[in-house]
Amino acid sequence: MKKLIQLLLLWSLFISVPYSAWGAGSPPSERGEQIRVLLSSHSKQIELSVESPYSVYSESRHLLAKKARGQTLLFTQKKGDLYLGKKKLATSSVLVVPKQDGSLKFKGNRYRGVARVEINSKNKIALINQLKLEKYLKSVVAGEVAPLWPQETLKAQAVAARTYAYYHMVKGKDKSVDITSPLAQNYQGIKKEHRATNQAVRATSGQILYYRGYLFPAFFHSTCGGGTEFPQNVWSLDFKIPEVVPCDYCKDSPHFQWSKKFDLKEVEQKFIQAGHSVHGLLNIYPARISKNRSHVTEIGLLTSDGEKTFRTNEFRRILGFNEVKSAKFKVAKRGDSVLLNGWGWGHGVGMCQYGAKSLAKEETNYRKILSYYYPGCRLKRVQM
Ligand SMILES: [Zn+2]
Repeated sequence: MKKLIQLLLLWSLFISVPYSAWGAGSPPSERGEQIRVLLSSHSKQIELSVESPYSVYSESRHLLAKKARGQTLLFTQKKGDLYLGKKKLATSSVLVVPKQDGSLKFKGNRYRGVARVEINSKNKIALINQLKLEKYLKSVVAGEVAPLWPQETLKAQAVAARTYAYYHMVKGKDKSVDITSPLAQNYQGIKKEHRATNQAVRATSGQILYYRGYLFPAFFHSTCGGGTEFPQNVWSLDFKIPEVVPCDYCKDSPHFQWSKKFDLKEVEQKFIQAGHSVHGLLNIYPARISKNRSHVTEIGLLTSDGEKTFRTNEFRRILGFNEVKSAKFKVAKRGDSVLLNGWGWGHGVGMCQYGAKSLAKEETNYRKILSYYYPGCRLKRVQM
């Protein structure tokens, strides 16, 4: 197997490029390479604590307040205006800048960097954590894989997470947010940081994957269950992406196989709640299988009104991503229920984390792990 990997892996170039040399998109250098992570966007009121002296600035960087000691700030949206405590602010967006890094606290988690608080398009309060990408990664890598996994796996995860994040920073340069936490990547602030994962982030500092010269979202997932999948088969996405690969390396994953029984009445109710008319659900079956026959890309629902098809990702979303763990499954009818027998956990696109763990045990370094799961990609170092 090692030989096969070595044949597949011709990892070569390791180029250091300045920002100005980037081919795809322009870098968010105006922000000082800070990533903007959305922490909250559904409330009309939020409580943000600062555990050190701090300043509050308006959108135009005008100093609104300077406090010599930390305190809890209550931000409220009333009739379209932003309030700090009882004071109505003359702006809809403020920046809270603590004197000491890591002294922001929101819902029990502590965060590095600064906080932007603003009224969003839905008239709710958006809380956005802005911090250096490398600091953000220290929390994300430890949130995505266990810090006690092999160091080379942690490094591969650091590069994949950095590439994914940087893609969104470049793509979202005209938006107010780059990434949503924890939906996009598992970011929970300082509490997740760990010595081993910090080391992996430092050791790969500034390293980003490019596919044929293009920045791309380096997807990753827990366990592929035998082979990876094209993103187009999971989401409505249209961009260049590495090929899919077979994967025998995640067989030891606790998520390699799964099974789940669903009562048809329960499925019917959940689909109706989600706005789909599937009254009189009689059966569920795979309607379309991907070309490499690894994943069910469309699922069919036989109802008393006829057949209806859905993207399997939508099927998973409605029934729960942790219930239908992957799109790689078979369906067996059992009376008024269906039994799904499946393989893997996650969308199956890009790097298989449990596979990356096994590869590192075979003394495969992180560059080889990355080139296995992202074939044709090159690693470049940028100044962060
Ligand atoms: Zn795998």
